Amino acid sequence: MRKALGRVILLAAITACSAAEAATALRFNKLADGSGKSISDAVIVVDGDKIVSVGSGASAIPAGATVIDLRRYTAIPGLIDAHTHISWVWDETPGTTPYRQATRTVGENVFLAQKNLRRTLETGVTTARDLNAQQEGADVALRELINRGAMVGPRLFVPTRAIFASPRPVGGVSGPYEMARMVREVIALGADWIKLFASTGGTQNLTGDATLTVEEIKAAIEIAHPLGKKVAVHSYGPEGAKRAALAGADTIEHAVDIDDETLAMMKAKGITYIPTIDHNRFYTDNATQFEFRQGIGAEYNAFIAKNIETTRRAVKVGVKVGMGSDAVYTMAGENTRELGALVKAGMTPAQALASATTINAAMLGKEKSLGSIAPGYFADIVAVEGDPLTDVNVVINNVRWVMKGGAVVVDKTGG
Ligand SMILES: [Zn+2]
Repeated sequence: MRKALGRVILLAAITACSAAEAATALRFNKLADGSGKSISDAVIVVDGDKIVSVGSGASAIPAGATVIDLRRYTAIPGLIDAHTHISWVWDETPGTTPYRQATRTVGENVFLAQKNLRRTLETGVTTARDLNAQQEGADVALRELINRGAMVGPRLFVPTRAIFASPRPVGGVSGPYEMARMVREVIALGADWIKLFASTGGTQNLTGDATLTVEEIKAAIEIAHPLGKKVAVHSYGPEGAKRAALAGADTIEHAVDIDDETLAMMKAKGITYIPTIDHNRFYTDNATQFEFRQGIGAEYNAFIAKNIETTRRAVKVGVKVGMGSDAVYTMAGENTRELGALVKAGMTPAQALASATTINAAMLGKEKSLGSIAPGYFADIVAVEGDPLTDVNVVINNVRWVMKGGAVVVDKTGG
């Protein structure tokens, strides 16, 4: 009996001791977020993977806490990219392009994606919704390996398989019945999100003709929502966006020339618009290297102009707009350049920061655990050099240190 009691006391002592040791106080010049407010001489106390307190000045540091001095920097919440393709790998072998490279197994694909995971974390993105994998199963594998700590990367929300209008070798459906069946199947495969392609368009194809019907999109939502899954709808053009809004989708990706009626519906239904303006800039920059067709740069620039204009109108009427890069292949690492595009579309730097934090956290249904630096939230914290509330380029170019879930995953502070 005495022996047993001794063990209990010893265990209690170890637990108390490790809790004190685990507390880390991060000191910053200031803390800023998408609300536009800031705290100077900020102290963020982290225990395990969560934030336990946020205060100001030395008195906010608990006794015995390990202090990390980041007083040269501003803290912002870990960023959320609403639209990535992190498993799409190009190994940059000379003489190849992303579209002309060796075929790989899913295993090779997952292993090689580590480069994209690292580059994405280096931009301050600690969470990503990944909307269609290079090979089926790669996204679920990455999500699980990251969550388990076997790989280092942003926490991922994934669809396992994108769903298209048939005919399509994989993921093609025709009619609400087939849609419902396919949605049940992808949820069984491990989807967090349902990804629908409701129009033509993608990469070198800048058409935006609607493909899925309102009834088909509705069928997906009717299966997904009661099971706690949300639905993202790809549309390059206005008609697919309108159908998605009528059906009650959760997010609409890319769409340009969305009409006023649809924007009003998006606002009323709380649908988030993810314009993904910057990915066509990436394609333009790399058109020669990627062996895209002659003259495509002008088409991309025309699409970008429409995308910015549509975003400007959406912001004006109060539609929630989230930051999504659509980063694919070597665009991983350029994810936050989208913030610059959002500012071009009329957002303030604070609004742009909100689009990548609180707006996207709510879009994911994770507004109580992600997107803010506050007690109880995951300790996803980014140190940037400069003032992100006056210049969005501070977020784009000056990320120096990144913590994800209480672990330092990027450190460029130079000691
Ligand atoms: Zn995409």
